[in-house]
Amino acid sequence: VTQNPQQPEVNIGLVGHVDHGKTTLVQALSGSWTDQHSEEMKRGISIRLGYADATFRKIPGADPPECYTVEETDDDGNETDVLRTVSFVDAPGHETLMATMLSGAAIMDGAVLVVSATENVPQAQTEEHLMALDIIGIDNIVIAQNKIDLVDRDRAVENYEQIQEFVQGTVAEDAPIVPISAQQEVNIDLLIDAIEREIPTPEHDESEAARMFTARSFDINRPGTTWEDLSGGVIGGSVVEGKLTEGEELELRPGREVDEGGQTEWRPITTDIRSLQAGGQMTDEVRPGGLCGVGTGLDPSLTKGDALAGQVAGEPGTLPPTREEFTMDVELLNRVVGEDEETVEEISTGEPLMLTVGTATTVGAVTSARTGEAEVSLKRPVCAADGAKIAINRRVGARWRLIGIGTLK
Ligand code: GDP
Ligand code: MG
Repeated sequence: VTQNPQQPEVNIGLVGHVDHGKTTLVQALSGSWTDQHSEEMKRGISIRLGYADATFRKIPGADPPECYTVEETDDDGNETDVLRTVSFVDAPGHETLMATMLSGAAIMDGAVLVVSATENVPQAQTEEHLMALDIIGIDNIVIAQNKIDLVDRDRAVENYEQIQEFVQGTVAEDAPIVPISAQQEVNIDLLIDAIEREIPTPEHDESEAARMFTARSFDINRPGTTWEDLSGGVIGGSVVEGKLTEGEELELRPGREVDEGGQTEWRPITTDIRSLQAGGQMTDEVRPGGLCGVGTGLDPSLTKGDALAGQVAGEPGTLPPTREEFTMDVELLNRVVGEDEETVEEISTGEPLMLTVGTATTVGAVTSARTGEAEVSLKRPVCAADGAKIAINRRVGARWRLIGIGTLK
């Protein structure tokens, strides 16, 4: 079986404080602008998290790190060799909701933490995002010290040392720090070199049952389309295990809420895979890596407006259970990230928490709280296996703040 050479094989998150240069860096690496919705729409799939694929290449005969490039030809016009295609997940800078970053983290194989050399370290989201990587267990990290074109040598060195000190004792302790200018495209080769070494393509067992996290769902029909011409609902997301194949059956959990005689319950949805899109192309198989779009046989009214975002899809009968309530082991952070000196109070019975499980975000009310453990009842159920990691957010002032990590029991 030949794999579509354009299909990305690894997902790399771009994280860091607002305005530190994440989107500019994605653009330098991929030539696309993740903030621009029209560009995404043109590709047929758009995702709130912002995806862009980049193909890393090597100039034949040159040595690392100078050999690394994203250009199709070198300075002499000779063709470069393709190394691999990676998919960048750009955490939206304006987004104050950590949940968006965390639901993206569920599909990241590694991350580039972008830190501006023009500001002191750490800024609030630099710290928050690093904490989130720690929680989700992403330890393949490269730090890009960006905007070095704006600072003098002394300031660059001072900032570099601040970064080193900040990552001490964290999951990024051993991460390489690469000084770059995303805007001026300085040291992009060094950055690719670091990514190639630190964030390898994960190995996946193709014989495992397919598992996909959905991040979006939509209706691709124009208003007024007659039923004969109607296309089925589309879901967008990332395959994390196994592979999806055109023509196969697909189950989605939790599915949908059905009302029967005043009683509501959630029922899995079963459909079939009518079409597949990955790496910007139609394909008949999708493996882990990058974003994919799945055309289904579902009534598009079921998928419109992200109605199925946060669901888990896979081979019927193989998905984890749907949970309307669960008990989790809780590990609280020492203090509220991003809030100076604010310590994290124990979770109390009755309080609302925002929980991120995979790509799903849901509010839960705490029905019972003990030290190190909490029972929650969810507003919207989630599909999750035992041992799943849960990011726990509490309302602090006007914002939801990350306060700890749960493990589903
Ligand atoms: P994001 O919020 O992290 O996605 O940051 P953006 O990529 O949107 O960048 C914020 C601002 O910083 C924009 O005006 C960029 O042009 C600018 N910027 C990003 N990287 C660099 C850089 O390396 N050098 C300079 N001088 N400006 C940069
Ligand atoms: Mg941005």
